[in-house]
Amino acid sequence: MPDAVMETRHLVKQFPVEGSRDVVHAVSGVDLIVLRGETLGLVGESGCGKTTMGRLVLRLIEPTAGEVLIEGRDLGALSKRELRRVRSELQIIFQNPFASLNPRMSVEEILRRPMEIHLRISAAERSRRVGLLLEQVGLREEHRNRFPHEFSGGQRQRIAIARALAVEPKFLVLDEPTSALDVSVQAQILNLLKRLQRDLGLTYLFISHDLSAVRHMSDRIAVMYLGKVVETSASETLFNDPQHPYTKALVSAIPVTNPRLRRERVRLTGDIPSPIHLPKGCAFHTRCPFVMDRCRTEGPVLQETGGSASHLVESHLVSCHLVDPA
Ligand code: SF4
Repeated sequence: MPDAVMETRHLVKQFPVEGSRDVVHAVSGVDLIVLRGETLGLVGESGCGKTTMGRLVLRLIEPTAGEVLIEGRDLGALSKRELRRVRSELQIIFQNPFASLNPRMSVEEILRRPMEIHLRISAAERSRRVGLLLEQVGLREEHRNRFPHEFSGGQRQRIAIARALAVEPKFLVLDEPTSALDVSVQAQILNLLKRLQRDLGLTYLFISHDLSAVRHMSDRIAVMYLGKVVETSASETLFNDPQHPYTKALVSAIPVTNPRLRRERVRLTGDIPSPIHLPKGCAFHTRCPFVMDRCRTEGPVLQETGGSASHLVESHLVSCHLVDPA
């Protein structure tokens, strides 16, 4: 089995609520592994904690508890200098490329700046690499001296991808990288990201609420609900045989054109509970169509669907009393 590039161990993040002793439980004890060269999709509704996870694994924010390991090194145990060096190997692509690009810098400057900070290469080599990066992301040499406002949304996302690649990263967090783009260019950007992964051996954490995009991109998928992973498995297993009622609802809501492949819609009622006052027992019980008495008092644990020994990478793990042999 390939080695892990990124691993989280019981990661927790709570945000204080101003003027109160309460906290927002954004992430509550998440274990994830992303293997070298694969894409792990992290999916869930808005507010489920997936974006906070993306920031935690890059150490853009400090965890309340738990560990993030990059190639086996605990980021929390690194010195500031070591962390700065490791950070160049970790990059993020944001949802809105316009907001993440400095409007006063030309494309050449945007791509050169991270190389000046992180790579010890000559000015001539930096300039050569700018040309290479433009080509890799499907832009042309003539784009070098233009400014972000002169580009379309899709082209701006290509610039953001080129900037992330400028420092030769190993691991990229793709945080809803196409949700601000026109539908017509979303597939182009996803296919570009797939090609770059294949050509450069990149490893991705792909964060999205769009299940179709997650399916297209991911080798494995983890489904989050109210700060916890409720189901994780190989991508096709999750779509063909979802086990958690929440995953079933998400999968059944995907439009299917072939009537023979249509599945019964699992409809959710009610809103997501407040992450400040989490429900007792299973956090999903307030919306679950299969809720039982036990669910209101006893929280399920993430475990192998058959009840056998679990392994984070190879297993189909589900957190629900319905699949709990007990
Ligand atoms: Fe639904 Fe109960 Fe399973 Fe939670 S544990 S998902 S409430 S059946």
